[in-house]
Amino acid sequence: MLGEGIIKGMAETARNFIGSYSEAERLTTVQYPEEREPIKENNRSFPFLVHDGLDPEKGLRCVACKICEKECPPQCIYIILERDEKGKPQKHPRVFDIDVSVCMSCQICVEVCPFEAIKMDTVFELSTVDRFEGLLLHKSDLSKSNTYFHKIHPDQAAAVDASLAAEKAKEAAKAAPPPAAPAGAASKPAPVPVAKA
Ligand code: SF4
Ligand code: SF4
Repeated sequence: MLGEGIIKGMAETARNFIGSYSEAERLTTVQYPEEREPIKENNRSFPFLVHDGLDPEKGLRCVACKICEKECPPQCIYIILERDEKGKPQKHPRVFDIDVSVCMSCQICVEVCPFEAIKMDTVFELSTVDRFEGLLLHKSDLSKSNTYFHKIHPDQAAAVDASLAAEKAKEAAKAAPPPAAPAGAASKPAPVPVAKA
């Protein structure tokens, strides 16, 4: 029939047009902020400091080695080492700040840290009217638990836990005394010197 193809084509276009507004799997946007898409494992925003246990200060993995501060391309990390009353350096940061208005989320700080102490966060709702102090994150803002790390990056956090446990076991094996000789085993006799002719 003349025009049948045109009618079929138009019907298909109309079906797709209506479907793009009503079929859930075809909707590419959500009504943010009421609705939110789940955040993917490999998403990253700005760095945070991981702490073990419940105390965000004592449990910090960071030893204030300053490698991340040195390697950060835009130099937005600021660290001051903790010292005791005699001025002896402690393996702990007294100050650890990151200016997230400058941070470019490159993750280099994470890659260079030898202690698995700094990881990338997924928080992105940081808008503030205070351009300076409001975007300067201090140690207390940055310190988050390993449980939180597991929540936002489960695969990565599990791999880090496994690698830290393996390192710990290696250290323990190195520090352990050598195994004792089995009871009753005869000690090896000293070699008898052979007289030269
Ligand atoms: S993510 Fe990059 S820019 Fe941001 S603090 Fe780490 S090294 Fe610096
Ligand atoms: S976060 Fe890592 S690299 Fe940076 S100062 Fe702490 S231990 Fe060193």
